[in-house]
Amino acid sequence: MRYDDSPPSPESASSVSPERRWFARRSGLAVGAAVLAPTLLAGWVLVQVATGAGADDARPPRIVMPAASPAATPSASPSASPTATATAPQAKGPLTGKTVVIDPGHNTGNFEHTSEIDKKVDIGTARKECDTTGTTTNAGYKEAEFTLDVSRRLRTALEAKGLKVVLTHEADRPWGPCINERARIGNEAAADAVVSVHADGVSEGSRGYHVILPAKVKGGAADTAAIVGPSRDLGERIGSNFARTTGSAPANYLGSGTGLVVRDDLGGLNLSTRPKVFIECGNMRDAKDAALLTSPEWRQKAAQGIADGIVGFLGG
Ligand code: ZN
Repeated sequence: MRYDDSPPSPESASSVSPERRWFARRSGLAVGAAVLAPTLLAGWVLVQVATGAGADDARPPRIVMPAASPAATPSASPSASPTATATAPQAKGPLTGKTVVIDPGHNTGNFEHTSEIDKKVDIGTARKECDTTGTTTNAGYKEAEFTLDVSRRLRTALEAKGLKVVLTHEADRPWGPCINERARIGNEAAADAVVSVHADGVSEGSRGYHVILPAKVKGGAADTAAIVGPSRDLGERIGSNFARTTGSAPANYLGSGTGLVVRDDLGGLNLSTRPKVFIECGNMRDAKDAALLTSPEWRQKAAQGIADGIVGFLGG
């Protein structure tokens, strides 16, 4: 049986010095130094250090984005009062008005609707099955049960932060949605981040999580050029936070120990116009991973880690 989320294509990942943004700030300081009185400069340096450090997610990403984010502009000009900047009331937080779409992988009903889900749909670069059944543990716990449970926990965590959350489905339909529709839901919601929740189904002994990032693809309705960079940022944050909250290690069977894999064959990624990743939370066919995946307490930790990664990506 084929799964939409297997097998992967070779990973392509590159890294760039994490010092890049810091150097950019330092360059700005050097220019400013030439035109500033020494005492004013001293105050400004303090402001820069205070606003520059710790602005990002507390945990450093394992791999830094190859395409750097647009250069951060210093938040305080040399003449601005640091006190005024620090105490200015904020009517809106960074998460205000933002939307997250969560896609619970598969659907428990897919097992009874194989003819419907086997119909091919256009994913831009190819035609592919509408949807797949997903895997199960050896004891029969369905991946689709797991993904919906984690997605609901994830929604609760994100709504507590004030985010608007949309699930692509919620036991409200007999099968599907098709992978192209899953992508469309994120696009039409103008989601600021989209996460598709999965668990893998590979051989015993293969363990750990991995995050799947969109490759740069172009064909038909698929054009991921604009989302490759931000999706990597989103995926790195989700991976590192997931590792922290669950204690799980990056997958030992792909991704070269990074917990990150780039794929060009997933319709849910190829057709997305919004930053999007998949997370494979563990291997349902491994006894040790299955013990985790079937634990409600562990699923709560998993959802919290994913939520923390999303919130960090959105600047919260
Ligand atoms: Zn899956």
